Amino acid sequence: MTSVPGAPRLAADSPVVVVGGGVVGLCTAYYLSTAGLPVEVVERRALGSGVSRGNAGWVCLSHSTPVPAPGIVRYALRSLGRPDSPLYLRPLPDPAFLRWLWRFWRSSTPAAFRHGYAAIAELNRDTFDLFDGLHDANVPTTLTRPGMVHAFLSPSEARHHLAIQREMAHGHYPIPDDVTTGPEAHLLDQALSPQVRAAYLVEGEGVVDPEAFARSLGDALSAAGVKVHEHAEVTGFRSAGEGVTALSTTQGEIPCSAVVIAAGMSSPRLLRALGHQLPLQAGKGYSFSVNLEPAPKHTLYFGERRAVASPIGGATRIGGTMELSGNNNRLDWRRIVAVALASRQYLGHWFEDPDDLVSLIRDPWVGGRPFLPDGLPVIDRLPKHNNAFAATGHGMLGVTLGPATGHRLAEYILTGQRPDALQPFRFDRLRR
Ligand SMILES: Cc1cc2nc3c(=O)[nH]c(=O)nc-3n(C[C@H](O)[C@H](O)[C@H](O)COP(=O)(O)OP(=O)(O)OC[C@H]3O[C@@H](n4cnc5c(N)ncnc54)[C@H](O)[C@@H]3O)c2cc1C
Repeated sequence: MTSVPGAPRLAADSPVVVVGGGVVGLCTAYYLSTAGLPVEVVERRALGSGVSRGNAGWVCLSHSTPVPAPGIVRYALRSLGRPDSPLYLRPLPDPAFLRWLWRFWRSSTPAAFRHGYAAIAELNRDTFDLFDGLHDANVPTTLTRPGMVHAFLSPSEARHHLAIQREMAHGHYPIPDDVTTGPEAHLLDQALSPQVRAAYLVEGEGVVDPEAFARSLGDALSAAGVKVHEHAEVTGFRSAGEGVTALSTTQGEIPCSAVVIAAGMSSPRLLRALGHQLPLQAGKGYSFSVNLEPAPKHTLYFGERRAVASPIGGATRIGGTMELSGNNNRLDWRRIVAVALASRQYLGHWFEDPDDLVSLIRDPWVGGRPFLPDGLPVIDRLPKHNNAFAATGHGMLGVTLGPATGHRLAEYILTGQRPDALQPFRFDRLRR
């Protein structure tokens, strides 16, 4: 179908197969399909049932930074033995985990942080245009742009935070000159409590209902004739030379002209089968939904506690915590309680006793954000392969960066030329 030098040999009768029906895989499949390629998606459970479900739904520019920031390791070390800390580190006697932590620490220098931030900002540049494009193509993204209120208990903390954001904004997004302090601060959103003594609004920041967004993408793919295999797990690959020719799945073999691995936390296992190591760790986060009266109108960031609230699907979704405790999906109720208690400082006493939470909250959820040690995703062709690609490691930003990732990766697959915006997300940087 294409003979551009360097491009995989894509055939009209053999699909590009995307492994993983999360937001990253679905967006990639969408842009490949709109480019006219035959595409199939293989998802071991239901579409959007991985970490793309239950998250806070933010589509934002002002919080799009790599997690390994200067000072983060000191902050994480202070959390040792304190499971109510927003960033909780439980050291494991696992060499891969310890190596990951070492590389994470090495990535938290000011220079590495600035480099990572610039890379994400560049990829993120077209995000809202891409969401508009999806909307214009009748894909109901559910995106609204109510803006994000950053709320703090302490004015000095708020000013510190705003100063950092102002320095990084570089005209990419509008940022206020100053913080609203004192009794006015909590008036920036009707749900905030008077305990909030400093706040500022970043206008235009967005939010989606992530479950509905994944559903819409799935519907758009089906309508475009993309074959979506749900409840089919990819178990291996058949290769010839430098190319993957087919995938083995629990529903049989699927021939392919190219493959994209966008399997979230399971990507390393699949990549290993193709001879590659990917040092991915889960940054576990928690969320739940609750009916608040009054409910937030904006997305809310609770500064000192690093928790969040989003208006999603007629309810308020509260989320937070980053737990580095290995690659598992165990829900620790203490962390749900910690997030609820953190939110109460900013939203007022929406519950009296943690025991009340069982009846007040819906859908308690835990998800593992896929994290590489430098905090950046990998969006690239696999070394030594001409038709196998990976798109994972989006950490806290998979919903925000899903469309931009899919759009750029589809361009790469079609042309064989890595777009400049994807240079910082190369696979081979991880070998260093
Ligand atoms: C509490 C919390 C809040 C968050 N809030 C936000 C936010 O506000 N904004 C934002 O941008 N991001 C947010 N995130 C991060 C975001 O959720 C992730 O970055 C994003 O969902 C990652 O998407 P993905 O497609 O890579 O992974 P996933 O959604 O996990 O998709 C991978 C899919 O691959 C499938 N799969 C795995 N192995 C196989 C196999 N062998 N065969 C077939 N299928 C397979 C899985 O079943 C899964 O469905 C948050 C995360 C958490 C935990």
